[in-house]
Amino acid sequence: MAESDLYFEQVPVGQMANLAYLVGSRESREALIVDPAWSVDGLIDRAEEQGMKVVGALITHYHQDHVGGEIFGMQIEGVSRLLERHPVPLYVNENEADGLLQITGASESDLARKAGGDSIEMGQIRIRLLHTPGHTPGSQCFMVEEQGTPGRLVAGDTLFLGSCGRVDLPGADPEAMYHSLSALGRLPDDTVLYPGHLYSSEPYGSMGEQKRSNPFLSAASLDQFLMYMGG
Ligand SMILES: [Zn+2]
Repeated sequence: MAESDLYFEQVPVGQMANLAYLVGSRESREALIVDPAWSVDGLIDRAEEQGMKVVGALITHYHQDHVGGEIFGMQIEGVSRLLERHPVPLYVNENEADGLLQITGASESDLARKAGGDSIEMGQIRIRLLHTPGHTPGSQCFMVEEQGTPGRLVAGDTLFLGSCGRVDLPGADPEAMYHSLSALGRLPDDTVLYPGHLYSSEPYGSMGEQKRSNPFLSAASLDQFLMYMGG
């Protein structure tokens, strides 16, 4: 079997159990940072020490612990630090773009506004952008695909191992979340889930196992989902 072209690193960052990711192609030596926050220099340095060039950022959603900004009186480093070092495009869902500008102070020219269904190619790697509203209006998950290997779902705060993102913050929509999770529940069982926070003992797991054990992913109806959410 040919050697994998996939460059993929899961990196714990910050004080809120966030998980950032480096995703790219070893062949093209290009990488994207998923959710550059907390320790942006650390993420860039890590990629560069491994011979990778950071060519952009994938934004799961615009909350401060994922893109930087001020929250609870705390200033979290984020995309503005990335742009200082490397003026690279921020791939953001079109429904999240205005919020991202407000939270981070980035400029329109820094953004690559994307729609669900768009994809990004790097070497042999394809990253499909899935629009998964619910936690926020423009939350997106990334399906990282390389032919002949199981897909990897980088899910931000839409889906965690054993739970899902909150839907009680401004801009959240419980019904949209139910439909987004229903769509993720149709991904192949061998897809590997990589969440935006480490809220469980394992840092990643198969979608097959999640479909069996995660009540939010296996809710039979909207009513049942809302009941789980309330309880
Ligand atoms: Zn969030």
